Amino acid sequence: MLSPFVFFFEPGNWLMKEKVAPFLISCYNEALREPSQKGRVIMQIYYKSTRGHEENVTASQAILKGLSKDGGLFVPTKIPKLDINMETLSQMSYQETAYEVMKRFFTDFTEEELKDCINKAYDEKFDTDAIAPLKEADGVYYLELFHGATIAFKDMALSILPHLMTTAARKNGTEKEIVILTATSGDTGKAALAGFADVPGTRIIVFYPKHGVSPIQEKQMVTQKGENTCVIGITGNFDDAQTGVKKIFNNQELVQELEEKGFQFSSANSINIGRLVPQIVYYVYAYATLYRQGKIKEGQEINVVVPTGNFGNILAAYYAKNMGLPIHKFICASNENKVLYDFFRTGTYDRNREFILTSSPSMDILISSNLERLLYLLAGEDSGKCAELMKELAEKGSYTITEEMKEKLGDFYGNYCSEGETKEAISAVYYGSGYVLDPHTAVAGGVYQKYLKETGDDSVTVIASTASPYKFTRSVVDAISDRYQGIDDLQLSKVLEELSKVPVPKAVKELMDAPVLHDRVIAADEMEETVKTVLGI
Ligand SMILES: *Cc1c(COP(=O)(O)O)cnc(C)c1O
Repeated sequence: MLSPFVFFFEPGNWLMKEKVAPFLISCYNEALREPSQKGRVIMQIYYKSTRGHEENVTASQAILKGLSKDGGLFVPTKIPKLDINMETLSQMSYQETAYEVMKRFFTDFTEEELKDCINKAYDEKFDTDAIAPLKEADGVYYLELFHGATIAFKDMALSILPHLMTTAARKNGTEKEIVILTATSGDTGKAALAGFADVPGTRIIVFYPKHGVSPIQEKQMVTQKGENTCVIGITGNFDDAQTGVKKIFNNQELVQELEEKGFQFSSANSINIGRLVPQIVYYVYAYATLYRQGKIKEGQEINVVVPTGNFGNILAAYYAKNMGLPIHKFICASNENKVLYDFFRTGTYDRNREFILTSSPSMDILISSNLERLLYLLAGEDSGKCAELMKELAEKGSYTITEEMKEKLGDFYGNYCSEGETKEAISAVYYGSGYVLDPHTAVAGGVYQKYLKETGDDSVTVIASTASPYKFTRSVVDAISDRYQGIDDLQLSKVLEELSKVPVPKAVKELMDAPVLHDRVIAADEMEETVKTVLGI
């Protein structure tokens, strides 16, 4: 039977032009929208690969998959607007803010599902109700992202990712066991282990560079409890571990074999969109906190400084700006592995250089995976261009962006700190205000001082404070004084307690006498075989 619409679809028909077409368009738009519980209207957001071969993926599917089949990263087809009044936002708890941000990205989750994930993640695992408190010291605001289970900022996203993932599996009718493969430069590993330990329906295998993490970071990982956890050292650096994991993900034969055996890979690395979105929350929360405290007026632009490695944290801030949060500059701070500083300066990304081990190991990275999401935006969402650059990176270890793309980098400022400058930054802030920075945050602090000197831009500034100084006691205490050099690393905590007047966190106290449960060390080219062995296939 012919549709009754056929009559109206005649071109030039008055009814079609004046009444039916607008009506159909509004129906179509309505169909894309979903009313929220509070009567607000929310756009459905879908995800696609930065390299173009996967489209129309729902949020829950993107979270489950981690990485796209074509090796690209999932990006929202549209960055939703944060259309809430600042007065309202500033009265919200961290959890409420998290819901407002996440529901705009994860539109296929129900209100109940999302709130359940949020409440399971941001609970008493954090040692403060604020979850991400702002501390003023030395004229800037430190956004402390280290109050979770493993005292580093990875907890902000990795406390919620396991819940998002198991909810996503349920929504998509997946019966398979989720296998999390993670490469870590120190902090992701422990935070992922803590998040996934004993979560039903999941297994987690973590690879870390055996000689590239701090003693406390290593102790945290190798003492991890949980039947479903496995921690393995690699005789290589972080990039070797990360490349190995990506290779396993891209090995379609292996993926197929695993599927037949009832397993499905996913990633807890910061390439997972389920990690990126929860990180947007604390920038919104920080801004709203500054507003509530009367430190800024509505709409006033702030600067954010982010100690950067894989480019996930700073990208989250950039997404926050794209949602409408007033941010002026994104100050990207690197350590001596200054690939990003060179990139912002020259437009050429070149990983062909010596890999340097520094006192900020979580930033010892030469391939910043999340930069791909920025490139995609800079290229005007041209996935072909993005795929081409990534191919060059894989083949030559470098690429150069076009002039047009480079022009769009104006929101970013990049710089770096040497090891000496990092130490000086710790000591300067300590002797200036009594506040103790960990080496990662100190890199950010040092770079911010360079920015101030160069530009004189004294906008209100938030520095993402990514780790507790208790995670890197040796470097921190040595930067403050050379009196403590003979003292054992774990004992140094007591020294730091006296210096900082901040009590030793529970996570550190528990470490002192925890037994080692994981001691396997392999070469990077044995990763695939090892995964098979661990899974018993
Ligand atoms: C992971 C990490 C960083 C770098 O964050 P990216 O999102 O990878 O740029 C900085 N500091 C600490 C303490 C970290 O754990």
